[in-house]
Amino acid sequence: MILKDFIIVGGGIAGLSAIKAIREQNQSASILWISDEDRLPYKRTKINKHIAVGFSRDEFALVEHDWLLTHHVELLFDRVIGIETAKHELSFKHRGNLQYHKLIVAIGNKPRPLSINGLSQDMVFNVHNARQVENIIRSTSSSRTYMVVGAGVEGVETADQLVQKGKKVILVDRNSMVLQRFFTPKYAALLQDTIQKAGIQLLLDVHDIDGSLGESVIQMNGQQYDVDTVISTIGYTPNIELAAASNIQCNVGIRVDEYMQTSAEDVFAAGDVAEHPSGEITCLWHAAEYQGRVAGMNACGIKTKLELKPFRMKTEVFGDYYLAVLPSKSSLEWVEEEKDDIVRDMYFDQGKLEAVLMKNDGSRSKIYQTALMEKWTRERINRELPL
Ligand SMILES: Cc1cc2nc3c(=O)[nH]c(=O)nc-3n(C[C@H](O)[C@H](O)[C@H](O)COP(=O)(O)OP(=O)(O)OC[C@H]3O[C@@H](n4cnc5c(N)ncnc54)[C@H](O)[C@@H]3O)c2cc1C
Repeated sequence: MILKDFIIVGGGIAGLSAIKAIREQNQSASILWISDEDRLPYKRTKINKHIAVGFSRDEFALVEHDWLLTHHVELLFDRVIGIETAKHELSFKHRGNLQYHKLIVAIGNKPRPLSINGLSQDMVFNVHNARQVENIIRSTSSSRTYMVVGAGVEGVETADQLVQKGKKVILVDRNSMVLQRFFTPKYAALLQDTIQKAGIQLLLDVHDIDGSLGESVIQMNGQQYDVDTVISTIGYTPNIELAAASNIQCNVGIRVDEYMQTSAEDVFAAGDVAEHPSGEITCLWHAAEYQGRVAGMNACGIKTKLELKPFRMKTEVFGDYYLAVLPSKSSLEWVEEEKDDIVRDMYFDQGKLEAVLMKNDGSRSKIYQTALMEKWTRERINRELPL
């Protein structure tokens, strides 16, 4: 049976980042990268932000074929369906089994199913992978009214794109504010105002959706709406089935320690599938990238501890730029500032920057990120990041 030094399952950023870390440490080891998608691994964050203009097949590719060749990384398009941890062996949907010395599982998550009473699943689309977004783009030639369920970042961005395409959009959430995971009520109110000004019907606190009244009629909170297409962005669940079936410890995600090691020998996990000792599952691009690197280093035998870093959410919607890292506790002192169209709230713990919410200071976004990572003092912010 063929044996590879490193097998990385999952063609996302966590997988690629692990590969880059391994190659930096070891130029001769065999590396096999497995993707179950239909194209070169790509920048997932781009896809729902390009519904209006569309994209070509490999437009957002993370690496070119040449890069794979130069770095001696073999990319295999298949789906892993089993892990025999005792034998260090993987089974596949299409090809025969393979063995690994070290395995990195970076298989991300999948959309939570949207269940609406009576609604045909043919009407429901997701934005989780490039193929799904291409289907949405195709739907725009016939659909006029879209209902986007879930007013988190992906939902709001998708609604923005559909409006740019000239579509009528109803944006729905069961929460009482948009971007509940990332925003305070103040920033949610700013964005909600913009959403409504863009002509989107924003329905919050919606707990009862009924699709059984007939084709394309959706009833919410007692009102009826005509809808051609439903897009669900209600959240994701980590792909744990593969690991769980192999007796690798899972909770909501695949459990990892501070070195991204799972409960199985020589098996690491990283990115959106990994659940950290604190119980956190990050679901952010830069966090997945960082975790992939840490997993890669540890798989090479270089003990590298994962540090909890304040990765930010950023989004550009309806012509505005938002950045958010929410404070983890409520007892921090904070400073609210506004100048022209810039709004920012900064939270300090014992004089050190802990969290930021900001609107429309996007040209200095990297400086905010550095300030957060380095926990700048108020004096330093006044000096180097004044408003
Ligand atoms: C539409 C969208 C927009 C987003 N925008 C942002 C943003 O603006 N900013 C931000 O920080 N984050 C954003 N995110 C989140 C971010 O994309 C993820 O945190 C990041 O992509 C996670 O990377 P990953 O490598 O862990 O997983 P993924 O990118 O999900 O990659 C996992 C890969 O593994 C594959 N796979 C699964 N099971 C198997 C198997 N059994 N065998 C082989 N392959 C398998 C999957 O098909 C997938 O290709 C967005 C997510 C989505 C869906």
